[in-house]
Amino acid sequence: AALSRTDEVDVKGGWKVGAPVPYAALSKTFVRIEATTKRLEKNAFLTSFLLLVMQRSAKGDAKSLLQAVYLCINRLSPDYVGIELGIGESLLIKAIAESTGRSISVVKADLQREGDLGLVAMMSKSSQKTLFKPKPLTVRYVFQNLKEIALATGHASQGKKVSIITKLLAACQDFEAKYIVRSLEGKLRIGNAERSVLVAVAHAAVLAERERAQKKWSPEKLAARLEEAANIMKAVYSELPSYDEVIPALLEHGIDGLRKHCRLTPGIPLKPMLAKPTKAIGEVLDRFENKRFTCEYKYDGERAQVHKLENGTVAVFSRNSENMSKKYPDLVEQLPKCIKDSTKSFVLDAEAVAIDRTTGKLMPFQELSRRKRKDVKVEDIQVRVCLFAFDLLYLNGEPLLQKSLFERRRLLREHFTLVPGEFDFAKSSDNETTEEIQSFLEESVKDGCEGLMVKMLDSEASFYEPSRRSVNWLKLKKDYLAGVGDSLDLVVVGGYYGKGKRTNVYGAFLLACYDSESEEYQTICKIGTGFSEEALQSHYETLKPLELVKVRGISSSGPGGRESISLRFPRFIRQRDDKTADEATGPEQIAEMYERQALAQNNGRRVEMRT
Ligand code: ATP
Repeated sequence: AALSRTDEVDVKGGWKVGAPVPYAALSKTFVRIEATTKRLEKNAFLTSFLLLVMQRSAKGDAKSLLQAVYLCINRLSPDYVGIELGIGESLLIKAIAESTGRSISVVKADLQREGDLGLVAMMSKSSQKTLFKPKPLTVRYVFQNLKEIALATGHASQGKKVSIITKLLAACQDFEAKYIVRSLEGKLRIGNAERSVLVAVAHAAVLAERERAQKKWSPEKLAARLEEAANIMKAVYSELPSYDEVIPALLEHGIDGLRKHCRLTPGIPLKPMLAKPTKAIGEVLDRFENKRFTCEYKYDGERAQVHKLENGTVAVFSRNSENMSKKYPDLVEQLPKCIKDSTKSFVLDAEAVAIDRTTGKLMPFQELSRRKRKDVKVEDIQVRVCLFAFDLLYLNGEPLLQKSLFERRRLLREHFTLVPGEFDFAKSSDNETTEEIQSFLEESVKDGCEGLMVKMLDSEASFYEPSRRSVNWLKLKKDYLAGVGDSLDLVVVGGYYGKGKRTNVYGAFLLACYDSESEEYQTICKIGTGFSEEALQSHYETLKPLELVKVRGISSSGPGGRESISLRFPRFIRQRDDKTADEATGPEQIAEMYERQALAQNNGRRVEMRT
């Protein structure tokens, strides 16, 4: 039903077949998406826009759809390329003032009142008298200019950025300024999660296919085909997370040709598979009863996905797909020694762990975090790392994701060689009893690890699942057994001024989890415990400039009609530099933990959750 309603939506304006995509069509689509909270409607509006792009682009033009998709997810390149927007507020205020002839102080006052710079830009434009209607903006032009802004570096870059933004804003009509400014800020705020854009692309491709076939499909057939296409798209994108590759392939080979043409490719990092927490060895055994499984050391370092291309290039990516080759030049240098001659190209999943080269002892993550993140020179490195490989995802031209872990591990051990202190295979032990798991766990802790990862070894259940937090990988940390539960990764959304010793810093913080479905941060607790004085000082210095509004106090109540959960006795453990805010723990994970806690309480045990 929601799909048919989009027929009434007119975003076309004067958009002709073969002409560039008007930015007005995209911004009107954003208006519609923002105006509804219904997921199906949001999807329908986006689908119908993308369908128009597909239908109106000239044959062989994949760029129009690609750029439209990028603007919908507010990116300019795949994650791993790292071209990012996120222009500072003062620069944007300056550009808005310049392009609309208003004073900076008036624009600032408007921002205080409205709280949305996009809206302020739009209002500033509409109050401006212009003699000539500017030439309409196109998606291509906006995209190229945003990219130029993002890429501008060096001395004169601020001035260059302001002048491009001013030029863009001067050409804006209707709602365009609102979304251009929000794009520049780095947050579109239309409630359109990245995953839903993926689904909309798949749906648009199905509708285009139906039109080309000029056939009437029954509603059941259409629904089934839409679902199938969305699943194919999600699977393909998780293996090859680059629209640069997926969109042209989609246009050329259709939905059904995607799997064949878009496979894991060295050089393009895939989103890593993640694990579910477990609280007791019994839980592990329940899950893996009668199945073959393996227990591996859970190393306390940083996830490293290591790629080697056929041409010899080596790259190390973080769990966020960030290229870390400059952070780990030593790993890149060490690698050739552990690769056998038969190994031409590969993708390894591994953990980089700080190690004491003289004693061979593993060091905790804190040591590793002392390393510089950028432009590290091998000769300056104090903290050495050893790579512990636990999975092989690609080997000599073949993706291995759909092979059993047993097989992947066999290939891993066959094609790489141990180099003491530099490269090793994650220590593992297969199919154990409760007592054996317990003693392996204790051994792992003694060896400086966080606990164990327990993984399915055989059958489809052991295939590598990119980007999934899977039940086929369970983590068993020593802390869980002490009854404290897993740690949560939360986002600071507020601070409270401290008293006494904490007078000049924030004494406590308001924390939130992130709901990627609704794209909202949901507050979950206030936290004031676990901070050293240095940490409080450094948090204050980092966060103070980001303060938006001052209020006397915050009272929190659960969101209307929904059950709410808060944490008892939360305690700060550490800052996570390897995750972005929207990779924070999600409400569904917290709800799951809560349910398991309730279950444990019913069994007569009490557990607390902590942060
Ligand atoms: P955590 O808070 O436990 O670090 P996380 O959200 O970063 O959680 P999880 O899926 O919960 O990620 O835990 C898996 C992480 O443990 C991996 O991302 C990886 O960095 C690390 N790890 C260490 N040893 C292994 C191993 N043998 N197999 C898989 N992951 C491992």
